Amino acid sequence: MSVPPSFLSQAQHLLSSAQKIVVTNHLNPDGDAMGSALAAAALLRHQGKEATVIVPNRYAANLHWIKGNEEVIRFEESPEKARAILREAQLTLHLDYNALYRSGPLEEDLQKLEVPRIVIDHHRQPEHFAEALYSDHEMSSTCEMVYHWALAMGWERYLDRDIGEALYAGIATDTGNFRFSSTRPKTHQAVAHLLTVGVRPHVVASRIYDSNRPERFKLLGRALDNMRLLENRHAVILYLSEKDLMEIPFEKGDTEGFVNYGLSLAGIELSAFCYPWEGRVKMSFRSKSDFDVNQFARQNFQGGGHFNAAGGISDLSLDETVEKAAGLDAPGTIHAVPTDLTAPN
Ligand code: 5GP
Ligand code: MN
Repeated sequence: MSVPPSFLSQAQHLLSSAQKIVVTNHLNPDGDAMGSALAAAALLRHQGKEATVIVPNRYAANLHWIKGNEEVIRFEESPEKARAILREAQLTLHLDYNALYRSGPLEEDLQKLEVPRIVIDHHRQPEHFAEALYSDHEMSSTCEMVYHWALAMGWERYLDRDIGEALYAGIATDTGNFRFSSTRPKTHQAVAHLLTVGVRPHVVASRIYDSNRPERFKLLGRALDNMRLLENRHAVILYLSEKDLMEIPFEKGDTEGFVNYGLSLAGIELSAFCYPWEGRVKMSFRSKSDFDVNQFARQNFQGGGHFNAAGGISDLSLDETVEKAAGLDAPGTIHAVPTDLTAPN
């Protein structure tokens, strides 16, 4: 679906009467959240708007190269600075999330703010908390949606290398580098266009993927070693324990993507990764085929996300969480007749 005309006219109307705009995204912002926020803010500044990016909390260092990063306000670290900007805001633009609670520590302040909201997002089951909502779960990423929005708004001439690379970063990371089923012809067409404005895929890839700390390797080694393989259920659980995180200094972003390693095992259709985080257990889920991890995370782990990529939280201990996850219905439990696990498809 291209940008719905009703969204476009409503967004245009709201933008025309707002000068000070806050651009925001979800807790633990990822490449898509940061790429879309920084690209959207830059596009709005080209329209003469005062756009400020306020994010709930810290994000991984391998996203700090995105143009505009220095001006990002992290609410958790500078709540008063963020509140001063929010007080002046005439419009908020919410990117890459479908429910206000996903903004974490920002939720209360955003809730109280009496200004119109615009949402652009590709998660399923959006809550209706905005005056203008552009929601499409078939889109690869919010960055792809911001690209389509920019074209629909007549902003094509502002798509330069910096904005393009911000958008490319989100599209590339949210599609698992163009491997997930969310990668559509339109996705590649958008990327092809971004390449013509100067985007350098090798530079972006290197900045995102070749900046690992040695600790990440050690953590990955532990997580892989801790593998709980549920072969006949076509599922695997990877985890890091409290002890692992005490022994190996951990930084935000170090575990990004660990969950994907589970899916690279032959025959595995569901991969879970969990680790202790702020007194709870943070969980990530990825699936192949027709196993819906959005539903799985919603039903069992207070979470959600996409059909094949979701996250959640557990209030049990790590061991109990792993046990719980290991006992739930998995792809192998559901398919009565197992498929040939080694056959190429
Ligand atoms: P990740 O596993 O990379 O943290 O998240 C995968 C997807 O699930 C992302 O699209 C993210 O927005 C969503 N997600 C992650 N954690 C949560 C959560 O706790 N609640 C909900 N509703 N979605 C989540
Ligand atoms: Mn996204």
